[in-house]
Amino acid sequence: MTIPLVDLAAQYRSIKPEIDAAIQRVLDLGHFILGPEVDALERELAASSGTAHAVALASGTDALELTLKACGIGAGDEVITTSLSFFATAEAVVAVGATPVFVDIEPVTYCLNPDQVAAKVSPRTKAILPVHLYGHPCDMDALTRIAKPRNLLIIEDCAQAIGARYREQRVGSFGIAGCFSFYPTKNLGAYGDGGLVVTNDAKVADQLRMLRIHGSRDRVRYDAIGRNSRLDELQAAILRAKLPHLEAWNEARRQHAETYRRLIAEAGASDLILPQERPGCRHVYHLFVVRSQRRDALVKALLEQGIRAQVHYAVAMPHQPVLAYLRPRRGDFPVAEQVADEVLSLPLYPELTPALIRQVVETLAHAMRAPQASRLTSA
Ligand SMILES: *Cc1c(COP(=O)(O)O)cnc(C)c1O
Repeated sequence: MTIPLVDLAAQYRSIKPEIDAAIQRVLDLGHFILGPEVDALERELAASSGTAHAVALASGTDALELTLKACGIGAGDEVITTSLSFFATAEAVVAVGATPVFVDIEPVTYCLNPDQVAAKVSPRTKAILPVHLYGHPCDMDALTRIAKPRNLLIIEDCAQAIGARYREQRVGSFGIAGCFSFYPTKNLGAYGDGGLVVTNDAKVADQLRMLRIHGSRDRVRYDAIGRNSRLDELQAAILRAKLPHLEAWNEARRQHAETYRRLIAEAGASDLILPQERPGCRHVYHLFVVRSQRRDALVKALLEQGIRAQVHYAVAMPHQPVLAYLRPRRGDFPVAEQVADEVLSLPLYPELTPALIRQVVETLAHAMRAPQASRLTSA
């Protein structure tokens, strides 16, 4: 029996009447782009994020890129960001013509290390782009203390962390803007691509609304080179049907994480490094990421048993070939480099059951007891 990394069909089955009704509502109205569903979703997500505005876009990548643009960040500017994330984080910075300046990650939360940010600030630095990686919030107090006196903007990459909280405050509301993704596997996923930006800044919201329709406010006059980046009405209606369930789904993820921790401890797999939640933070476990020095062998053993473990991410962003022009050296980001060699993501989704988690842990523990290939050859 296979255990997927996420089971989107199971989620659909659990709320089928609500989703079907939402889709039918859009089809009956016949309004597909920038209509009542997008308006309502923007209001609902601004309210739940505690921000004044929300602007829905075509993807999380566009959310990052158009937010950088809306903040006036471009050629000659530097943006300080983390060295471990999905590549879209760095891609967005390069896409607007700016230079990503990478910092290493914290060994416990895997988020960018605030202690290393101040040293990377230069006269060209315009913004800090923290990523709430795997669903764990970054140290926003420390980052705010660095950004404020230096007049740096904070743009949060919340793609993996919708619903996560730092000192009871929702991620996305700490800096000038927070960027979300509705990619299907994210904690709040559409049935296609989608993204959204929350902000308290009316000017940034206005710029984003203009940029998402080719740089025009009235479709007569064009004030900027924007693009086509709209969330469509069908996706907005689907997301609105799912939104009331988000808290319960995030809570289920947290419970499954606890079950994993308990069963892994019981199985005696003590050389596995488990995810931790820093006090004052609410982790929403977009991914349940463990670490082992025998990562590749464990992933192989899990896949052989039909358990779809994956690696997020096998290469630290500064070491991606396309960024070679920044001349990173091996050893510049020692924590991110080591973590990239050791991480594996175990199946985690709200509809998972304790029985399935037990099956994953038993397979994992069995693989960990197997003799190491390296030991065999050196014996
Ligand atoms: C998914 C993701 C993005 C990009 O979102 P898309 O909607 O896929 O474009 C950006 N940053 C992070 C950290 C992500 O996980």
